[in-house]
Amino acid sequence: MEERYEPIKELGSGNFGVARLVKDRKTKELLAVKYIERGKTIDEHVQREIINHRSLRHPNIVRFKEVWLTPTHLAIVMEYAAGGELFAKICSAGRFSEDEARFFFQQLISGVSYCHSMEICHRDLKLENTLLDGSPSPRLKICDFGYSKSGLLHSQPKSTVGTPAYIAPEVLSRKEYDGKVLDIYIMTLLWT
Ligand code: ADP
Repeated sequence: MEERYEPIKELGSGNFGVARLVKDRKTKELLAVKYIERGKTIDEHVQREIINHRSLRHPNIVRFKEVWLTPTHLAIVMEYAAGGELFAKICSAGRFSEDEARFFFQQLISGVSYCHSMEICHRDLKLENTLLDGSPSPRLKICDFGYSKSGLLHSQPKSTVGTPAYIAPEVLSRKEYDGKVLDIYIMTLLWT
């Protein structure tokens, strides 16, 4: 893999492993690679992340490129969002003006609406999972499809997933629920 991608720096670590910034030696394009250790960490969530994320192509969704299998890790290569997490931007700004909030929210619902039109629900639409690209007028990019589900390929959502602070009541009910409605709940909770 290093023959193809030059490692540049570590971007951070998450629940499943680390993310690194790399440069495609051929095209010189900067990309992000998420490394997940091989073994039992590669569960149904990782499988769904790959299957669902790779089927999505939209300006407000981090573009999935390819998957590599190294002797130790599974590596998901994707578009690099140079502007970092929207969460950090809000923290440093303190608050957004109505115009700023509208600018980002329109992009968020555009990406989510596209996911839903493809019958995929995200189920973890927190601010840490919305990144920004590096352009002067930043474009919002939804990432991390680890909790996503496809209405065409998978069963109706039932399990308790997501981030504890943003769990919707129906997710705690242990009954089947509508993943698309759940996405709307989380967005409403975070943006109003
Ligand atoms: P988690 O699974 O906990 O969300 P990730 O492994 O996806 O964590 O990401 C770890 C870190 O790398 C986070 O800080 C995240 O913002 C960053 N990151 C992940 N993907 C990208 C990307 N495509 N572009 C830029 N930064 C990214």
